[in-house]
Amino acid sequence: MSGASETEKWVPFWRSLQSRFILSFGALIAALLLFLNIYPIVTSEDLVFQSKQDALWRQADIITSTLAGGEGLTAEGVEANLTKLGVTSLDRVLVTDPSGKVLYDTSEVDNARDRYALLWEVVSALKGNDVFRSEYRDGAFRSRAAAPILYRGMTQGAVYLYEYDRQQAEMLRDLQSNLRNISIVVCVAALAFSVLISKAVTRRIAVLLRGIRSVREGEYSHRVTMAGGDELALLAGEFNELTDRLQTTEEVRRRFVSDASHELKTPLASIRLLTDSILQNGDMDPDTAREFVSDIGDEAERLTRITEKLLTLTRMDTAPPRNVAPVDVARVIRKVEHMLAPLAAAVDVTVELELGTDCVVRSTEDDLYQIAFNLMENAVKYDLPGGRVRVELSTEGDQVVLRVEDTGVGIPEEDLPKIFDRFYRVDKARSREAGGTGLGLSIVRDAVCQNGGTVEARRREPEGTCFEVRFPRCGKEETP
Ligand code: ADP
Repeated sequence: MSGASETEKWVPFWRSLQSRFILSFGALIAALLLFLNIYPIVTSEDLVFQSKQDALWRQADIITSTLAGGEGLTAEGVEANLTKLGVTSLDRVLVTDPSGKVLYDTSEVDNARDRYALLWEVVSALKGNDVFRSEYRDGAFRSRAAAPILYRGMTQGAVYLYEYDRQQAEMLRDLQSNLRNISIVVCVAALAFSVLISKAVTRRIAVLLRGIRSVREGEYSHRVTMAGGDELALLAGEFNELTDRLQTTEEVRRRFVSDASHELKTPLASIRLLTDSILQNGDMDPDTAREFVSDIGDEAERLTRITEKLLTLTRMDTAPPRNVAPVDVARVIRKVEHMLAPLAAAVDVTVELELGTDCVVRSTEDDLYQIAFNLMENAVKYDLPGGRVRVELSTEGDQVVLRVEDTGVGIPEEDLPKIFDRFYRVDKARSREAGGTGLGLSIVRDAVCQNGGTVEARRREPEGTCFEVRFPRCGKEETP
């Protein structure tokens, strides 16, 4: 029996199925949401950058082609042309001559007119490159483009455009915050869902666990009820079947113990009674005293027989694998017949043997002796004076068949299914009188089963009983 501390075994939360389920489910959802939050934003940013580049370059193209000309660039010329062109959507338009000196600048805050532009975009454009750079910072897109003003292969100057866009950035921010809010809601819902699911699963496991503990504590009638058709319901079904078997085994064990003690108590009580009588009757005549002592001897013998048979049965239940070998059954039967000859002669019963050849089975001589002895002894014991016992041994296909028939009292049809049960006797008085223990046929059944055979009893017409045992026959090459 286990102690209370064992009964209260529990799994810490961090090692529980529930926490593992929640963690793995949570990690999966978090990874998915992270991806869903990052990917659309990055893609949208790229799309905005691309569209800005296209737009700025298009405008730079228009400006450079308007300004390029044979006369070269002058501050007035540039201003006149650009005013005519009307580029108002941009936050800054800056035009320099080939040396980088600013001829035109729309910036009001930091106007660089007549100074040299130190912007790297301008420097790169003066070297003949088209430049674009955009960044998303502080809730706005800041985009810059620069292009050289070329005329017949000559760099006449550079155009620098700058755009500061809050509108698209706000749209992106809205998208970002919407995605974040949705993610939080999904996360909370997923977490709640995983807690609910894992709780439902662990609750059902706890039901099973409680069932197992109850059975372990000896409550064999405990059954687990679990709805559904999933693996846990299947497990509960298997558990209930196992408990059914345990309960049956336990009942058989209890019945056996109580039957055995009852069987042992009877001869012990007789012995006690007989000894008391002898002791209390001081003037008992010697013949009666001898008779009483002889009765005590009989009861002691009965006790010996019962304990011997009980030991045989227990050995069969717990014995390690036996050394089986091919055994000639006919030889064993002759031995048994020899042993039973005095008993048969005493009750005036004739034993006839009809033993075929090649009746070899894989077994132990001990098992076969137990089977043949119990069946033949019963046939003699329960036969009537002048009766006959016929023992027939033959082969039928791949089986060896042993039939033991008698012409005795017979067994009523309704008792036939029970006679192999331990301590079952049809006629208790007769069995007792014949020195029976009610264990012989149990030993036969167990031994036959252990050797892969079958045994059955039937009524023999017109009178008596027939026991038939079938064993798997041993192959010719194995014959001793
Ligand atoms: P027992 O030691 O009482 O003979 P068994 O287990 O060998 O116990 O047999 C169980 C009961 O079956 C017997 O008590 C007897 O009533 C019945 N029985 C067994 N063999 C025969 C038989 N050949 N003829 C009639 N009754 C039998």
